[in-house]
Amino acid sequence: MLDKVLIANRGEIALRILRACKSLGIKTVAAYSSADKDLLHVRLADQSVCIGPAASARSYLDMQALITAAKLTGANAIHPGYGFLSENADFAEQVERAGLVFIGPKPDTIRLMGDKVSAIAAMIKAGVPTVPGSNGPLPDDNNSAVIADSRRIGFPVIIKASAGGGGRGMRVAHHEAELLSAIQITRAEANAAFGNGTVYMEKYLTQPRHVEVQVIADGHGHVVHLYDRDCSLQRRHQKVLEEAPAPHIDEAVRERVLKACTDACLEIGYRGAGTFEFLYEKGQFFFIEMNTRLQVEHPVTELVTGVDLVKEQLRIASGLALSVTQQDVHLKGHAFECRINAEDARTFMPSPGKVTFYSAPGGPNVRVDSHLYTGYIVPPHYDSLIGKLIVWDENRESALVRMSQALDEMQVEGIQTNIALHKELVRDSHFKEGGVTIHYLTQLFDG
Ligand code: ADP
Repeated sequence: MLDKVLIANRGEIALRILRACKSLGIKTVAAYSSADKDLLHVRLADQSVCIGPAASARSYLDMQALITAAKLTGANAIHPGYGFLSENADFAEQVERAGLVFIGPKPDTIRLMGDKVSAIAAMIKAGVPTVPGSNGPLPDDNNSAVIADSRRIGFPVIIKASAGGGGRGMRVAHHEAELLSAIQITRAEANAAFGNGTVYMEKYLTQPRHVEVQVIADGHGHVVHLYDRDCSLQRRHQKVLEEAPAPHIDEAVRERVLKACTDACLEIGYRGAGTFEFLYEKGQFFFIEMNTRLQVEHPVTELVTGVDLVKEQLRIASGLALSVTQQDVHLKGHAFECRINAEDARTFMPSPGKVTFYSAPGGPNVRVDSHLYTGYIVPPHYDSLIGKLIVWDENRESALVRMSQALDEMQVEGIQTNIALHKELVRDSHFKEGGVTIHYLTQLFDG
């Protein structure tokens, strides 16, 4: 087993990783920015090192600072969490070159999946169903070929940056007249945001759900899927509320996609935890991208399968076998996760500041992954996620009731949060039925 892990992240996920390390007897080092010295995991870690100022570029994204901190503290592995450097192949490579373990896939796998064009090509090769599209980068010197391709695919189409992420670098063209300018703008945005102007085209599905498949692989030929999650409630392509398993999916269709995912992992020699993201429409799955890291919404999967994903990551990074085989994994009950953000309820603008009172909900089957405490000051420098409220129950209906109660119990004062929004959502009649599309939340706001 790994001896000491440096946690190269902050907030709730840093605390989540620290807890998993502790339960396996692994020592922890918290690497934190000067804005984050009061974070809970910094207090609880065996050691802590300030790696730089508040600006992420000079702290959580500073590869050398993180590697040096690991070396100086005698950590033998780095857990990148999600966001920041978690899907940066160069970082994974540098960590390995420094003689440390990167807790994640091999650098080449991260690179392959980080580029959406190459990821889609790999999935087609592995037999995973993808969205009808250009299946490759759009040329910037052959408009007639692009137009012909768009006609073959059929409008509306969506232009996406190959290096895109976080819901950025996408633009829909509803008609041929919009196509070339959509490509031009997305290309310029992609160049500016990701330093890579490669764009591709997909059919824009108008009524899809976002359904994703969780996998874990030991890198030695053992792959296990942990079923699916539905993350259709999104705002500006950012997930808001997630659940597991995805409701109302035909069992035979589900089994086929799960198998396609585990087969693909074997084909590409996948190692670690990973997620295949799909759009699901009219009973069919269409791959959109793979995330080669732990995801924010991983706890819903943990609650319905009983598998601790971070512990599995640590086992895999230690060179151990997975703790479960596919036969051991059984779905039980239903789980929901509400992402609690520090943001204005109406404008969705971030709402940093001092938490003057915090009281977490509790009771059976209520899990709170949060670094909040009364007196904590939410800094303005990072994303607005301040915690995740996750509940489990025997079925979807009772899990929703439990979530509703837990939201009523949750008290956060001093800053604005989206708790009121979640209360509305879990009582919404369409959401209660299950299976709303990715546009549902936006439609609710537009009235
Ligand atoms: P990112 O890496 O930025 O998260 P994704 O490719 O995962 O980008 O897409 C994010 C979201 O954008 C999806 O969950 C979905 O809401 C929307 N989206 C992406 N591709 C399509 C498509 N072909 N048709 C309809 N919606 C799409």
